[in-house]
Parts: sequence; C-alpha cells; structure tokens
Amino acid sequence: MPKDSSRREFIKRSTKGAAVGGAVAATAPVAAAEGSPKLLKTAHTNQSTSICPYCAVGCSVVVHTLGDKSRNVKPAIVHIEGDPESPINRGTLCPKGASLEEFVQSDRRLTTVQYRAPGSRTWTRISWAEAVTKMARRIKDARDHGFETTDAQGRTVNRLDNIAMIGGCTDTNEINYLLSKFRFGLGLLSYENQSRL
Ligand code: SF4
Repeated sequence: MPKDSSRREFIKRSTKGAAVGGAVAATAPVAAAEGSPKLLKTAHTNQSTSICPYCAVGCSVVVHTLGDKSRNVKPAIVHIEGDPESPINRGTLCPKGASLEEFVQSDRRLTTVQYRAPGSRTWTRISWAEAVTKMARRIKDARDHGFETTDAQGRTVNRLDNIAMIGGCTDTNEINYLLSKFRFGLGLLSYENQSRL
C-alpha cells in the first residue's frame, strides 16, 4: 500500500472513530438523566427574597423553602442563592453569603444569651431580661466612674472614654441610627462598625 494511501486510511478511520465517540459522549448524559428520577432540591420550593445580613454591601438573596402552613408541614429552608434581579449583586454572592443556609440551619447557631462570669471558664445561658439588666448596671457604673466633663486644660469635653461600642454588620440602618443616638447620649467616643455608620 502506498504511503499516501495508508495516511488517508488512517485519517478516515480516526474521523469515523471520533464521530462515533462524539455521538456516544453526546447521548450518554441524556441516557443517564433519563434513568435518574431525581429532581432538583428546589423543584417544589416556595421562594421569598431577603437581604444577606453579613455586610454593608446588602446583596439580595432568594430563600427556597419546602413546606408551608397550608400543607401542615413545618417549613424548612433547603437552599439560599443570589437574587438575579438585584441590581446590587445580580445573582452573585461572596463565599460568606453563599453559606447563608448554615447561618439559619447550623446546630451550632447560638439562639440564647451566653454569659461568662468574671474569672469563670464556662458559659451559662441567661434570659434576655437578665442580660439587659446586667448590661444596664455595668454601663451606668462605668459611665459614673469615667465620664469627663473637662479635659486637662479645663476645656469642656463631656466625653466617656472607658466604654467602646462595636456595631455588627447585621445591624440595619435603623438599629445603627438608634445606636448612634445611644452613643452620643452617653458621650461615648469609641465606636466601630463594619458599615462605617
Ligand atoms: S453576600 Fe457577601 S458581599 Fe454580599 S452582603 Fe453578604 S457578605 Fe456582603
């Protein structure tokens, strides 16, 4: 067989093989999909929109929930994803926002106030009423002890420098507004917040 002919044969065979291989590759996922009755986990969910609470970017999310009161089933969140209709994030979420489902579902989520007494190594659960009373007492005592009306040169300052306040990124504008009023009312200088309010 001439050299040229054998090369042509080889290319012909390869092309045929590739074509058959391509056909198999193209039909295999279809066959696999047909054999699988699985539905997407979001197939029967109700969707509601919300805002990621983690930072001041304020990305919108779609929360997929299975079950509702009319079906007498306890609702359960099965998926949270970026809202494609949001002009802020256009369907995307950063890794923190993408883990939002855990924020709701995690069995390590704290749902009660935890208190660690001075010198203690353990945390105990206390009620909100007890926590608020304790905080109010400490703030009052610290303010009574540390409030300065004038500085070393005798200038009026009316400031409090022995308490610092930290605002969380999950705080809303309204909460931050109230926290600012609270802070100014105390004369408190040190305030940090992720949203820089
Ligand atoms: S998804 Fe990320 S960037 Fe968007 S609000 Fe949440 S934490 Fe901020």
